[in-house]
Amino acid sequence: MSAQVIRAVLLALLSIFIALPVGYFVAHWAGWSVFCAGLGLQMIFHFRNFARLDRWSHRPVVDAGLEGEGAWDGIFGRLYRHEKDLRTQISDRDDQIERLFAALQALTDGVVALDLNQQIVYCNTTAEDQLGLVSESDRGQPIVNLVRQPEFVAYLDAGDFERPLTLRSDRGTDRVLSIHVVPYAGDRRLMQIKDVTQSDRLDRMRRDFVANVSHELRTPLTVLAGFLETLQEIDLDRDEQHRYLDMMAEQSKRMESIVQDLLTLSSIESAPPPSNDVVDMGSLIDKLRRDGEALSGGRHTIVAETDGLCDLRGSEPELVSAFGNLVANAVRYTPAGGTVRIEWKVTAQGAEFAVEDTGIGIEAKHIPRLTERFYRVDRGRSRDAGGTGLGLAIVKHSLNRHQALLDIRSLPGVGSRFAAKFPASRIARVQG
Ligand code: ADP
Repeated sequence: MSAQVIRAVLLALLSIFIALPVGYFVAHWAGWSVFCAGLGLQMIFHFRNFARLDRWSHRPVVDAGLEGEGAWDGIFGRLYRHEKDLRTQISDRDDQIERLFAALQALTDGVVALDLNQQIVYCNTTAEDQLGLVSESDRGQPIVNLVRQPEFVAYLDAGDFERPLTLRSDRGTDRVLSIHVVPYAGDRRLMQIKDVTQSDRLDRMRRDFVANVSHELRTPLTVLAGFLETLQEIDLDRDEQHRYLDMMAEQSKRMESIVQDLLTLSSIESAPPPSNDVVDMGSLIDKLRRDGEALSGGRHTIVAETDGLCDLRGSEPELVSAFGNLVANAVRYTPAGGTVRIEWKVTAQGAEFAVEDTGIGIEAKHIPRLTERFYRVDRGRSRDAGGTGLGLAIVKHSLNRHQALLDIRSLPGVGSRFAAKFPASRIARVQG
């Protein structure tokens, strides 16, 4: 029993102890009066405190001024402390929940929590962006009313969440999402959404690349095998044999070029950033002109122009290979009698190396795809010209490594201009 309760009992006993002698020595009614007055006073006292407690319980504010009288003081004190602890716990819990929501919002993965009826309980901003949801208005809506793609609806209905669902966005973007559903708190579901667009694209590129390489190598290999079989089975005269051997040599040269270009691509892909050597552009342009003339065999006019104002910083072998590819293409895709112009000049943004030709030109729709591996406008023509379809891919990659951009302008039947635009940071020396 607490001290306050003992005190209340003692006060009740006190009124009995005072009433008894008064009743005995004065008069019975006087004793009863004293006893009733004592009880009445106690009742008023308890009623006052009870009324205070009643008022407080309707609006339990944490008020340090909340005090009871006598035995009630301890009760009020304990209630006050209890209410204060409760408020602190609630506020701590609120802080934790807020931090948890902030963490969910900060996730780069989308998160959507669904209730038992697949209605949205919560979704973070990443999920809003990925699925086109609006957290405020969509809360409480069934998810399948908002994400209506049949494969998604079927996935949720099937309830087999062992594997994630790969969903291609139907909202006018080429986004690919991987949706993983995790059951939680009984039958509730938590959707975890990853944007796998990039890895999906890389995966597709890798598959296409392997298929392309196989195809590109298989064609000359099949031709080579065919010739070999003919040579083995049919008795050919010497001239015919020579003709076949020449054709076989041509096919093996083609395979060699493909393999060589593939090796070049893979070596620049895995190479460290290019060196910062100063490349003497005057002599490089001269060499490119001579190589172009050798390839042309006198069928074209090759012109080289340089303002002689600057050199370039970078890896000389890589730049020679990239620029050489552009010159070779210009020669190969320009009919006899045409002109190929090689230029090197300072520009407002930095410097520009360009190769311009009066060749067959390229239709606008092909231009954005020219630097893809094995992309060719006219497969037969490229093959006849000894092309591998990898030249411009190598050029683009090498230029990227030198922070340069490849600008392609072309008109069918008029000619093309391939320009490598270098930033000022790559200029080695500007002469006066
Ligand atoms: P390829 O080995 O086939 O020449 P590239 O990657 O060098 O491969 O070029 C890709 C395609 O771009 C070529 O097949 C050709 O169709 C086109 N092309 C490149 N350069 C020129 C050019 N100067 N004029 C016209 N078409 C060109």
